[in-house]
Amino acid sequence: MPDAILIRHCFRCKDPLPETRKDSYCKPCRNHKSKEWSAANPKKRSQMAKNWRDKNYDSRRHWERHYEETHRKEKYATHKRWRAGESGKTWIERNRAKDSATAGRWIKTHRPSVNARRKRHWAANRGRLREYARLKRERNPERIRLLDRQRYVRHREKRILLSIAVRAKRLQAEGNATPEQCRELLEQFKSCCGYCHTPLTYKNKTYDHKTPLSRGGTNYIENLIPSCRPCNARKHTRTYEEFVKLIQP
Ligand SMILES: [Zn+2]
Ligand SMILES: [Zn+2]
Repeated sequence: MPDAILIRHCFRCKDPLPETRKDSYCKPCRNHKSKEWSAANPKKRSQMAKNWRDKNYDSRRHWERHYEETHRKEKYATHKRWRAGESGKTWIERNRAKDSATAGRWIKTHRPSVNARRKRHWAANRGRLREYARLKRERNPERIRLLDRQRYVRHREKRILLSIAVRAKRLQAEGNATPEQCRELLEQFKSCCGYCHTPLTYKNKTYDHKTPLSRGGTNYIENLIPSCRPCNARKHTRTYEEFVKLIQP
């Protein structure tokens, strides 16, 4: 029976192989073997994959770009899944600085749409976000206080104005000044106290109401004057004129 000798059998499952197959294993068994080998040699496997990627860099990039352009949503969803998964998490942990730098760059170049999206998100989830912030504050007050302090330093002008605005609102005073107006005002005074001319630093800078809010002054920029803390405290409820008279030597 010479024919029977020619029929080859799979090394693994011993099933007869089709004549055209060059491999010594049938298809499922070959797959199985490859998987086994990959599991036993993970380093070699990933090196091989890397070699392949490097060798086909250009065409791979081309197709990736093409795919990205035609499948933006899918690409984003895949990326999001990857970030949430094990390998994404490990990568982010190891490349935290790089990751946040990328995010920062993206935000910078997409500022208007980012702001619009944040606004929409805030408007749609106001109650939930407030509650979430409260919970976060309760869970880790130390960390939140630190962040608050850092934010305060970053947006000093804004914060000073905000606290002024809050007081103005409580006293039902009219008007509001913008950070830009205050910066201009500060420049006019060469960043010095409007009363004692001490150079204003980050720590002692305040804005004083020339006519105090408590005496019917407004919160418009015309009624504001840069002032050091000691002067502001000493002036108390006096008007600008009354205080200037008092401190004149
Ligand atoms: Zn087989
Ligand atoms: Zn002063």
